[in-house]
This record gives sequence, C-alpha cells and structure tokens, in this order.
Amino acid sequence: MRIDGSSYGCVVIGAGVAGLTAAGALRDGGIPVVLLDKGRAAGGRLATRRVEGAVFDHGAQFFTARDAGFARTAAAWRAAGVARPWFDDALCATAGMSSIARHLAAGLDVGLATTVTAVARGPRGYVVTADDGRRWEAAAVVLTAPVPQSLALLDAGGVALDDAVRARLAAVTYERCLAGLFEAPWPAALPAHGVARVDGDTLSWLASNRVKGLCAVDAVTAHARADWSLARWSHDDAAVLAALAAEVARYTGGAPRPVALKRWRYAKPTRCLDGPVVVRDGGATLVFAGDALHRDGGRVEGAARSGLAAAAALS
Ligand SMILES: Cc1cc2nc3c(=O)[nH]c(=O)nc-3n(C[C@H](O)[C@H](O)[C@H](O)COP(=O)(O)OP(=O)(O)OC[C@H]3O[C@@H](n4cnc5c(N)ncnc54)[C@H](O)[C@@H]3O)c2cc1C
Repeated sequence: MRIDGSSYGCVVIGAGVAGLTAAGALRDGGIPVVLLDKGRAAGGRLATRRVEGAVFDHGAQFFTARDAGFARTAAAWRAAGVARPWFDDALCATAGMSSIARHLAAGLDVGLATTVTAVARGPRGYVVTADDGRRWEAAAVVLTAPVPQSLALLDAGGVALDDAVRARLAAVTYERCLAGLFEAPWPAALPAHGVARVDGDTLSWLASNRVKGLCAVDAVTAHARADWSLARWSHDDAAVLAALAAEVARYTGGAPRPVALKRWRYAKPTRCLDGPVVVRDGGATLVFAGDALHRDGGRVEGAARSGLAAAAALS
C-alpha cells in the first residue's frame, strides 16, 4: 500500500531493462506494481543522449537474443518496430536504445526523477522512502539498482540481511567505463555497419550513431577500456575528452569535436551471481535482480532475464 493511499503488491526500484521486465511480468500476473527510478527517463544503462541534432547511444550499444525465451521477446520488439538487426547476431533499437525502455514502460506506473533513499521494514512488508519524503509500502520490493547501491538502501532503512546472503551480494563487482561522445567523420574505410574494431590500451568500442541510423550528424560514441577508465576516473571531463579525442582521431581522422562525457561507475558486472537473491521474512519479500544477478551478466539479455526470474520468484 502506498502510504498516501494507493495499493501496490510490489515496488520495483530501478526502471532499467531488468526492473521494467520484472514490473511488466508482475502486472501481467495481476500484481499491482509501481516502478521508481532516479533518472529523468526510464532505461538506466539503455541510454540515449540527444545534443542538438546529434543522437548518441552512450550505454548499451546492442543486444543479443541467444536464449529461446528472450528471442521471442526480441521478435516482439522487432514486430513492434522498436528493434532491428544490426550486425552479426547483434540487434539494436530503431530509435536509440532508450526507446526499448519507453516501449517496456508503456502502461506501467513509473515514477521518474524519484531517488529512493531507504528501504525499511514496515507493518505490511517494506516501506520505500524517496528523497522528497514520499513513501510507498508493499509486501515485496524488487531491487534492480547496482548491488552496492541496493545494499546501501537497506542499510539506510536498518534492514539487516543474513550474513551469508550479504556476503554473497557483497562479492558482486563492477567495472567502470568513461564514454566520450564526439562529432567526427566516419571514413568510408571504416566498417559500413558503423562499428570499428579497436585495439590498443585506450578504447574498447567505437561506433557511429549516424551509420547506425540514429541521426544525420556524425555522432561517434567511444567507450574507454575499464582499466583506462578506472585510472582516469578522478580526471576532469575536459582532460578525459582530450585524451579520448586523440585516440578517436586515429580512426576517424581530423579533430573529433568533444560533445559530452558520460561516467558509468557501474558499467558492467565483473563478478555476477547466477540468479536473483530472494529474502523472505514472514509475508514480506525482497528480491535482488539486475544484470549482475544472472549468469549472462553485463548484458541487456541477461538483465531482462533476471527481471523475469525476479517476477517468477514473487508469483
Ligand atoms: C558503456 C556500456 C556499454 C554496454 N554495452 C552493452 C552492449 O553493447 N550489449 C549489452 O547487451 N549490454 C551492454 N551493456 C550492459 C547493459 O547495458 C546492462 O547489462 C543492462 O542495461 C543493465 O540493466 P539493469 O536493469 O540490470 O540495470 P540498469 O540499467 O543500471 O538499471 C538500474 C536502474 O536503477 C536506478 N537506480 C539506481 N539507484 C536508484 C535509487 N536510489 N533510486 C531510484 N532509482 C535508482 C538507475 O537510475 C537505473 O535506471 C553496456 C553497459 C554500459 C554501461
């Protein structure tokens, strides 16, 4: 029950692909559900940035559909015009990766720009508090933020986990990614699908969002390697962009024009668990889900499947 009156069976924290998938499955199963996300848009790491005429996918670049069940989901996204094949077995969104999140959010009760600050035990389950003081109560909470952030919410609410459960969750680790967004030409010599094979010690990924079909502007996304990102995390944006631009220029030529830098502190899990962690306490249930709680971690596909598994644990 929301403390201001509306009833929910479940609060889902995080409207990335895991949370959206969990919430959709719970709703389809007849469980009243609300999603809360601190972002101004749904999607989390399914993120698309628009700057004037340029459009950048700056988080997840593509997704795969290797699992038979998720392949049916991907086929439905394609049938709805939301996704299309890109290269090899990679699919992408037709209007930027965040449009998949918008598609999944349709018809769901999603509270955006809502930063959850604590999850506490309440008389009817858990009480979820946001930074503006609003509170929701539900018998179940699905936590899909990166695991350290989810644990911090429970700490803030005074929820103590069993030592063994906490130790399993605390073992989850993530790598960082500095993502540089540039305007830079995509020379004809680079692959026609818009993804360049990059090696060396700086970049892990270089792609043209124009060639991908997102915009008419030469918008290039450059992801730095995890070790490079960690070493420069404290450097200011201009210094990071200058260093990335020098590297991008090796492929695109000219002087790439820096547009923005995005810092992904929890870019991809490096140590995952193989399924959701479910904590039952009387009639109240907590479920940890998200891309780090799936054996196929660090991928859109794994995150979506984690969301489904979380919903199944509550059915
Ligand atoms: C740079 C980069 C490149 C990637 N490339 C690929 C790729 O090409 N292919 C692929 O398959 N995967 C890729 N991934 C991984 C993929 O994006 C993730 O596995 C997937 O999107 C994770 O989804 P999720 O729902 O588990 O988490 P998230 O998308 O991180 O969702 C968690 C949500 O929780 C919200 N949240 C956190 N704390 C709070 C709070 N206190 N209150 C409210 N809301 C909160 C966040 O705002 C966020 O929206 C990439 C990731 C990055 C960062």
